Amino acid sequence: MKIITDPSFFHSYPGKFGFVPTMGALHEGHISLIHEAKRECDQVVVSIFVNPTQFAPHEDFNRYPRPIERDQEMAEAAGVDVLFLPSVESVYPLGVDAARIHIEGVSDLWEGELRPGHFDGVATVVARLLLIVCPKTTYFGQKDIQQTIIVNRMCYSLGLPGRIKVCPTVRESDGLALSSRNIYLSSKERQMAPLIYNCSEESKKMILDHRLEKASVLLEGSRMKLAQFCSLDYFELVSLDDMRPLERYEKESVLIVAARFEAVRLLDNILI
Ligand code: AMP
Repeated sequence: MKIITDPSFFHSYPGKFGFVPTMGALHEGHISLIHEAKRECDQVVVSIFVNPTQFAPHEDFNRYPRPIERDQEMAEAAGVDVLFLPSVESVYPLGVDAARIHIEGVSDLWEGELRPGHFDGVATVVARLLLIVCPKTTYFGQKDIQQTIIVNRMCYSLGLPGRIKVCPTVRESDGLALSSRNIYLSSKERQMAPLIYNCSEESKKMILDHRLEKASVLLEGSRMKLAQFCSLDYFELVSLDDMRPLERYEKESVLIVAARFEAVRLLDNILI
């Protein structure tokens, strides 16, 4: 496995790679994306870059986990060909505030409303990385569904290189979606956290059984159950196309959840 920090490395290989952008602290969710990339592409690039522009000043940029040696070992074991570890200066040569991409509409809902500017940082770094790596295909997790919708819209609007593939969420055996931030859950919170997924599945079943009724009413029972052990930022049925809230089930719907615990917020979603 080559370890690269200089973006100019990619000038000689345009369009060849499967690409998995990450912020590191790799887990089986990331590895599943790498495996999919390996299945479809000759060579796989993984980037590890904790992107400062997607964190607000009060957020966890400084304490975001950075176990770089372990990440290198996991990437090597997963068969990654190129591990790209760019510096902030090489991603943002004129400084982090020099240019921002804003995708209208979807960026201001849900996570975007609670974390103003977050998706502008995400869109900007993804665009920058795609222009550096010039991949054949870039792999994202359904776990961050709003991010995937924004990235798809951005790539389509701006004609960025390669195609985007969204891969299923990898979960622990009890249903908790894997996340680099799960390590911040206390043991009691860790025990309760799978309820996020279980309640989502329960709601999905109810929505599918009562298609014509108001989804918002059907979700109330799950909201109350979850609110007993965490603070819910949202638990909503939305359109998979543009994430607008839905009164009732439509063909392409997704149930999205954000739950706050003492030291961490967890995101999850299931397609309906
Ligand atoms: P991150 O390092 O958190 O920025 O995530 C890098 C990529 O891995 C993103 O496309 C995420 O959606 C994806 N990812 C994170 N967690 C999971 C998971 N549990 N299952 C599948 N993909 C995931």
